Amino acid sequence: MRILILGGTAEARALAHALAARDDISVTVSLAGRTAEPLPQAAPVRSGGFGGAEGLARYLSDERVDVLIDATHPYAAAISANAARAAGDAGVRLLALRRPPWEKVAGDNWIEVEDVEGAVRALGEQPKRAFLALGRNELRPFAAAPQHSYLIRSVDPVDPPLAVPDATYIAARGPFGESEDRALLARHNIEVIVAKNSGGEATYGKIEAARALGLPVIMLKRPALPEVASVATVEEVLAWLDHAPTPSTARGV
Ligand code: NAP
Repeated sequence: MRILILGGTAEARALAHALAARDDISVTVSLAGRTAEPLPQAAPVRSGGFGGAEGLARYLSDERVDVLIDATHPYAAAISANAARAAGDAGVRLLALRRPPWEKVAGDNWIEVEDVEGAVRALGEQPKRAFLALGRNELRPFAAAPQHSYLIRSVDPVDPPLAVPDATYIAARGPFGESEDRALLARHNIEVIVAKNSGGEATYGKIEAARALGLPVIMLKRPALPEVASVATVEEVLAWLDHAPTPSTARGV
């Protein structure tokens, strides 16, 4: 069985690791190619965009892929939409591995917003010290609110830097624990956090830290994703694969 994993997440990496050891499966991981030094993978990697849904459908046919696993981040909506279209067009079975969102618990003070522009508005007019737990590509709209002080943590440098007078950058790769993030927020006198509802353990530390410190979290709502067969864990993907038709039966041979 030939499997393509659309990756860029810890779950995709764990899945590739679990599948790489199997003789009955040939697996490739696809990365967008945005991170300068991506973590090593247990399986072969291809990198860079496919050229839209058409390009991905072509790749699936050319590489004779039997199963496409969309294990991308829940905010990576474009590639997930492309995956749904391309799998349909190429006649390839598709399974999405999607982390459930975090649920609010007692003590959480979340302000939910539709998008990054909504997050900028929610910061308000008065200067605040904000921790932006967002990707490098989501920061630009904050240039419209230069009255705030920003703390920004990212894997790769933010280049060019955000056009505001007061921004502090931290280069770091998760996971980030609660005590580590609590210390970070306290050290920088952070008053508000802007975050995505990524789900999972690796970046939940800041949400727990915000709760402990009584800080509000401006939470970007999840984007709409295509309705496809989906599971929440790597183990469920493995179980699904073991019950998926073999390539010959799937192709009707
Ligand atoms: P996106 O907006 O959904 O995708 C934009 C374009 O990037 C896609 O149309 C596709 O280009 C290319 N692309 C995205 N993921 C790809 C993959 N795994 N392999 C090959 N091409 C890919 O994606 P994004 O939000 O920028 O995320 C990019 C990558 O970072 C994904 O792998 C995602 O899992 C990971 N990531 C994203 C976030 C986040 O918050 N968005 C957080 C952590 C990790 P073409 O149309 O040319 O094929």
